[in-house]
Amino acid sequence: MSTTAVAAISHWIGGRSAEPLGPRRLDVTNPATGAVIRSVALAGAEDVDRAVKAAHAAFPDWQATTPLRRARILTRFRELLERHQLELATLVSEEHGKVLADAKGSVQRGIEVVEFACGAPHLLKGEHAGGVGRDVDAYSRLQPLGVCVGITPFNFPAMVPLWMFPVALACGNTFILKPSEKVPSTSMRMAELLREAGLPDGVFNIVHGDKEAVDALLVHPLVRAVSFVGSTPVARHVYTTAASAGKRVQALGGAKNHAVIMADADLEFTADALTGAAFGSAGERCMAISVAVAVGEVADPLVARLAEKARALKVGPGTVATSEMGPLVSRAHRDRVRGYVDDGVASGATLVVDGRGLVVAGHDSGFFLGPTIFDHVTEDMSIYRDEIFGPVLSVVRVASLDEAIGLLNRNAYGNGCAIFTGSGASARRFEEHVEVGMVGINVPIPVPMAFFSFGGWKQSLFGDLHVHGMEGVYFYTRTKAVTSRWPHVDRASSGLVMPTLA
Ligand code: NAD
Repeated sequence: MSTTAVAAISHWIGGRSAEPLGPRRLDVTNPATGAVIRSVALAGAEDVDRAVKAAHAAFPDWQATTPLRRARILTRFRELLERHQLELATLVSEEHGKVLADAKGSVQRGIEVVEFACGAPHLLKGEHAGGVGRDVDAYSRLQPLGVCVGITPFNFPAMVPLWMFPVALACGNTFILKPSEKVPSTSMRMAELLREAGLPDGVFNIVHGDKEAVDALLVHPLVRAVSFVGSTPVARHVYTTAASAGKRVQALGGAKNHAVIMADADLEFTADALTGAAFGSAGERCMAISVAVAVGEVADPLVARLAEKARALKVGPGTVATSEMGPLVSRAHRDRVRGYVDDGVASGATLVVDGRGLVVAGHDSGFFLGPTIFDHVTEDMSIYRDEIFGPVLSVVRVASLDEAIGLLNRNAYGNGCAIFTGSGASARRFEEHVEVGMVGINVPIPVPMAFFSFGGWKQSLFGDLHVHGMEGVYFYTRTKAVTSRWPHVDRASSGLVMPTLA
């Protein structure tokens, strides 16, 4: 229970803020100061049931709303998001800690998914083949599923929910968002903007909460599909629980993204790119580069440049314009990341830059940790194996591109990766053989644009379909294949034998 007098955030059900039925609440902190700034309701099964019933009741009318009308509402929503982009980014920065410019960029990437979803009339056209038999046409219809659920992580309070609900709504579904309890405010503001855009009540709902809310959503009989983004252990739990309850599931998990640096790479460009990819958002990105794989003689000059750039980074509160890197999301997480740095030292890796001693003047209670670089990291070390999710970059030295590809392919995760090279042949070999869902060639964080789909391989994704793009449309619809004969029935072909229409 919160003891401080701060704003209390409730759920969002049926188009308005809804007081929680249960007593559980959680403090929300500003990571730059450590201060409690709000408190958020934690839903139990009764709150979840109320939200699901509201979404279920809104479904028939929303399904019957034409894709064009749905798209018009989403177009207005997109305009509102643009108008309120700075306000949303400020909420992201305040509760997550990332710097404001980065938060704005993440809202922008979310807006692009809304732009994609505005194409609903085109996206939902299905396929058509005239004359598959005599007087017979065949076509497919993409129909909505019903109540869909999105469960999202703390690190992208606007963007990751926006990966999901615009596409789900465009396809004619109703939606319940369960945002991370660490960053609840941005999604509430987006709910208000959806209402302002003209979305009917009950089509979009929010329940705040933790495992208790998630587990109630996963097994609720009226929920048809679950999209999840978060850590791998929880993704696995969500996938197995919801799939065995008969839901369609896509569960995106954690990551350990490698960048391979060849000797023919432009070293200055590469070091700049890696610095941004490793330490941007304090390493709390699922597409952050946490392992630099140095091939051959590039290692020494690369490490020297990386160290110089890491030491020069300005760390401070995300809302201060000069800050390049903000704090970690919570004290517990900062301490966990610091523990990994201790482990790396104990396991014999070379600590090139040590972020543990960082002090941010005037922010003694903030959850800061400076950029940290280890060299000579090996596969058996915990700093290599585990997702740290902080500003810690490990350099692994290998002799060849094939050795680098083998390293990536043995890794349990397969979210993103990159190669830095001046050789098309090396880039193509890497792209062809690497077992990772998203590949960058001289691009450190290859997040696909909204009209492509986002998703990893191996333990970075449980389920079959990635988010947004056409895979998102297929996830949020079920296909009905229609075979149609007009206007006359050919009686001769109706019988007990399997018909061959042609
Ligand atoms: P998390 O797994 O702790 O939480 C994600 C969501 O699951 C939250 O809404 C949380 O309330 C809920 N949750 C937490 N524990 C649960 C449990 N035991 N049972 C049921 N629900 C539970 O993740 P996080 O710390 O919020 O976010 C960081 C993680 O998300 C990292 O592992 C990161 O790689 C991953 N991530 C992945 C992607 C991707 O696209 N693959 C994108 C962003 C973040």
